Amino acid sequence: MAAPKIQELKELTRIERIGAHSHIRGLGLDDSLEARAVSQGMVGQIEARKAAGVILSMIKEGRIAGRAILMAGHPGTGKTAIAMGMAKALGEDTPFTMMAASEIFSLEMSKTEALTQSLRRSIGVRIKEEAELIEGEVVEIEIERSVTSGAKAGKLILKTTEMETVYDLGAKMIEQLQREKVVSGDVITIDRASSKISKLGRSFARASDYDAMGSQTRFVQCPEGELEKRKEVVHTVTLHEMDVINSRAQGFLALFAGDTGEIKDEVREQIDQKVAEWREEGKAEIIPGVLFIDEVHMLDIECFSFLNRALESDTAPIVIMATNRGIAQIRGTKFRSPHGVPLDLIDRSLIIMTRPYTAEEIMNILKIRCEEEDVEMTEDALDLLTTIGSETSLRYAIQLITTASLVAQKRKASEVDVQDIRRVYSLFIDIKRSTQFLKEYQEEYMFSEIN
Ligand code: ATP
Repeated sequence: MAAPKIQELKELTRIERIGAHSHIRGLGLDDSLEARAVSQGMVGQIEARKAAGVILSMIKEGRIAGRAILMAGHPGTGKTAIAMGMAKALGEDTPFTMMAASEIFSLEMSKTEALTQSLRRSIGVRIKEEAELIEGEVVEIEIERSVTSGAKAGKLILKTTEMETVYDLGAKMIEQLQREKVVSGDVITIDRASSKISKLGRSFARASDYDAMGSQTRFVQCPEGELEKRKEVVHTVTLHEMDVINSRAQGFLALFAGDTGEIKDEVREQIDQKVAEWREEGKAEIIPGVLFIDEVHMLDIECFSFLNRALESDTAPIVIMATNRGIAQIRGTKFRSPHGVPLDLIDRSLIIMTRPYTAEEIMNILKIRCEEEDVEMTEDALDLLTTIGSETSLRYAIQLITTASLVAQKRKASEVDVQDIRRVYSLFIDIKRSTQFLKEYQEEYMFSEIN
């Protein structure tokens, strides 16, 4: 019984296998957010792609949180493909989490916990670390040796462009100072991450060697100068990663196993408080990312009301929901509503519609998929496949590409031709033929319910 497996999109790009959407490289928009007819693996669906582009710029600005978007349209009209395009177009730094609504029905954690984890996976925290490499002129070094234990301790006053800073010296740093024969007036760098001290030279010729064994104080006048070099380090982590690392029961290894279990409220409160402090101090910034919930009609009424409330938080991500349902029952109630989603949630959502494809668009998508799957196809075969796609479904036609290519290989042909498409069309049936078959032979099946 595994915890919900939420795909991390950025990971997916590293997998070499050809997935259903591996041909999608972006939304295919130009600078003024107009959709190009065929671009970045995207075909047609102009209005929906433009709308997605507007949402994308809203996300990139990063100031708006807690918006809900509903993508509604027939099966196979590219809702998931558009979400993928958005994920690709967002920078590395913006978290994009993808889940199918049915994943929350896990026995390992409550539905609301699963949703909370997904929401927090979709919020990035950009943390700015203090200067890592500090360059300055040594004003004063003071080293003492404990009479009883013999251990050394010390202080270093370093003058940078802005200020004089006092550093406590550990035994290792003292050793480095002595090895490099650093004295007052020397210009040094300190790498904060590794505590490594390097001598760059002298900026002020005064001061003699100091006696490392005793304690000595030297004062030098500091010249004006550009001595300081700051290396700012920025990391982005998600709130969920911070939760997992700080939940004592789990530890950071759980991040790799993906098996995080329930996380206590106290842990989340602590994290939120810490992040709020960092934000006030200017050390951290919140990056609202995207949570994409496919088949959203599979959520139930508890989840919907939880989502409604969660969207009100100022650290909520943009939630994009997709559904192919018409008027349907809201799970957990006896009521029906458009898309099986409660009206109050629909009302606060921006709705993007996807429309059925024209034959030309289907042909273009099939062409792109042939390239992606490395399949050569004659024009006649592509025409036939396009007709099949228009009359059955785009997904069915896409499935026939690789199968037809295998059949062509069998007869040692380098290109898929009409005969190969015919062959796989008769080997694998589509929904219409499958339903027809069932209707004809229903008496011979168990539990038959079709009238
Ligand atoms: P469902 O409602 O059944 O989940 P969907 O609307 O999410 O369907 P997709 O899975 O996005 O449909 O599309 C089916 C297949 O067609 C996918 O392989 C997808 O990448 C491809 N596809 C759909 N639309 C486009 C498009 N506009 N451009 C390129 N490829 C597309």
